[in-house]
Amino acid sequence: MKALSLLGEGDARITEIAEPQPGAGELLLKVEMVGLCGTDLNSFRGRNPLITYPRVLGHEIAATVLQGNAAIGAGTHVTVSPYTSCGRCPACRRGRQNACRYNETFGVQRDGAITELLCVSAAKTYPSTLPLKDLCLVEPLTVGFHACARGRVTKDDVVAVFGCGGIGLGAIAGAAYRGARTIAIDLDDAKLETARKAGATDVIHSRKEDVRERLRDITAGDGPGVMIEAIGLPETFRMAVEEAAFTGRVVYIGYAREPVAYETKLFVQKELDILGSRNALPQDFLDVMAMLDAGRFPVAEAVTAIVPLDEAPSMLAQWSANPAAFTKIMIQM
Ligand SMILES: [Zn+2]
Ligand SMILES: [Zn+2]
Repeated sequence: MKALSLLGEGDARITEIAEPQPGAGELLLKVEMVGLCGTDLNSFRGRNPLITYPRVLGHEIAATVLQGNAAIGAGTHVTVSPYTSCGRCPACRRGRQNACRYNETFGVQRDGAITELLCVSAAKTYPSTLPLKDLCLVEPLTVGFHACARGRVTKDDVVAVFGCGGIGLGAIAGAAYRGARTIAIDLDDAKLETARKAGATDVIHSRKEDVRERLRDITAGDGPGVMIEAIGLPETFRMAVEEAAFTGRVVYIGYAREPVAYETKLFVQKELDILGSRNALPQDFLDVMAMLDAGRFPVAEAVTAIVPLDEAPSMLAQWSANPAAFTKIMIQM
């Protein structure tokens, strides 16, 4: 069967791989559509430290069940949690398998889903009647939803989200879904517009406006109770701590490439909760599917292009040459 494989940095090809056989407790799936995100772009560009080559890409999955079980029958549409968990490490023992020390994500540490058939543990599949395009968006949106869960966001909170890319948009939709007043911050007008449609009540253009002044205006000088960083820049890592309200929560989803210098007295003075957020838990998948079912996310605006498998290698090259031109690309199998 055909697969999209990365053979090395900048070298994506359609390859032939063996058909998988479902093991005990696994379902056999026919892959329908798979989304590409910044992780895949980084892998293509040789900037993902976790990947080894060759590697079949793909972790944002919409599929149809070919061989099911008693609960999930053949013909059902599903999305898939692309992570593994060992069950024994400290994270797994605490029920936080999303942060498993030995996690292997599809398309990163193990071969992924941009291929024709896939075998997945039934426990990692989520049946749904959502359209295939929506199903591909579930996993990327869960990452932001998980950040909102980590930040214990409620309807009484004001939440500010730095970055309106795929991950930030999930955090915005998650905070809005929980009923919070949600502030989206980015330097791209189109992304801010999409953020509004995803539920942002206020938007701040960080090049045209003074972010600190606007945050203080919106919160009557207090600062937001929850700050979510979804970019990974030292400046926004710091600003999240500087602008958070006293006793606020700061949640980091972005990966900063370099060390970040902090005025650490703010951690203590404000008695902040500073939290990391990684991947997502089953409840985040269920919450995102309910939100999509309720039609509360601008799916059309969030997807830049849908291309057939054969065009995937040239699409990756185009994206790499012009990263800003695309947010979400989907491969139709
Ligand atoms: Zn992704
Ligand atoms: Zn584990």
